[in-house]
Amino acid sequence: MGLKQDLVFPIAKRWIAGKDMKTGLEAAKEANKNGYFALLNFLGEDVTDPTLAESQCGEYTALQKAIYDSSIKGSVSVKLTQLGLLTDEVVMKKRLAALASAASSMGQQLWLDMEGSRFTDKTLETYRELHETHHNTGVALQAYMRRSEADLSSLIEAGAMVRLVKGAYNESRDLVYGSRKETAENYVRLLRQLFERAENFTVATHDSALIDEARRLSSSHDARFEFGMLRGIRDELKKELVSSGFKVVDYIPYGDQWYSYSVRRIKEHPSNVWLLLRSLV
Ligand SMILES: Cc1cc2nc3c(=O)[nH]c(=O)nc-3n(C[C@H](O)[C@H](O)[C@H](O)COP(=O)(O)OP(=O)(O)OC[C@H]3O[C@@H](n4cnc5c(N)ncnc54)[C@H](O)[C@@H]3O)c2cc1C
Repeated sequence: MGLKQDLVFPIAKRWIAGKDMKTGLEAAKEANKNGYFALLNFLGEDVTDPTLAESQCGEYTALQKAIYDSSIKGSVSVKLTQLGLLTDEVVMKKRLAALASAASSMGQQLWLDMEGSRFTDKTLETYRELHETHHNTGVALQAYMRRSEADLSSLIEAGAMVRLVKGAYNESRDLVYGSRKETAENYVRLLRQLFERAENFTVATHDSALIDEARRLSSSHDARFEFGMLRGIRDELKKELVSSGFKVVDYIPYGDQWYSYSVRRIKEHPSNVWLLLRSLV
């Protein structure tokens, strides 16, 4: 590890399980003990080496089996650029279909993360194709994107499983809502659509106002939904939701590509920058 990584790793440990599958599985068991389902992610994206894309897919195949063999209540969530979107799209789709079939045979789901906007069309197109034959699959949709209201409408029409998130990438102003307030307002619009029209979805946020809105909507709609949160964030709230009878999914990343994921989490919340600075003195 470089010096920068050495300094960040102790802080990053709160958001990532560790560097290998064993640590991911341990964290998933711990999540299950707390009453949460586990959604495991092997960190990696923008893979341009075909051999690496193949081996990343191999990790997921082994991970699905390990989840099953360890009787963990959980599934995996993948990124298309990790499985070879940038190296060979046809091969990537075959890998995805194989992961979806394996998930189905082991009673698991397969989720697609949503990446930066240059992959939105491709991710949705690939998901739609996959979902036609594999109903155990879901896709993330980002409330900061102006296009998401229309995308959500057609995904619901197709019977998709959607994980609603705010969005984590730096995007150009013409594509996304400009302020946190506007993104939150759009999140509420999309949330209402989900409660009114969708069958099965994930409310993936740590934002108390949005979680309260989902709780309110759930009391007047008969929707099957779950709350999704990231490992190491708002753990008390997760416990409270479980004790109130809600299903909670803990998204658990692991792997040696932990650095950029952790920097994203640090930048998201100012208090984390203080945490980082405090750890240096
Ligand atoms: C289950 C799950 C899956 C996700 N999948 C994707 C995906 O596929 N694609 C994508 O673009 N994004 C994804 N994200 C990330 C998401 O887009 C946001 O970047 C992230 O969830 C922060 O937004 P928020 O809704 O929690 O609201 P925020 O307004 O960022 O946070 C609300 C509150 O939560 C707490 N909080 C949030 N983040 C932190 C933090 N890092 N450290 C400490 N406290 C924090 C704070 O109390 C904060 O006030 C996912 C998020 C979750 C929960």
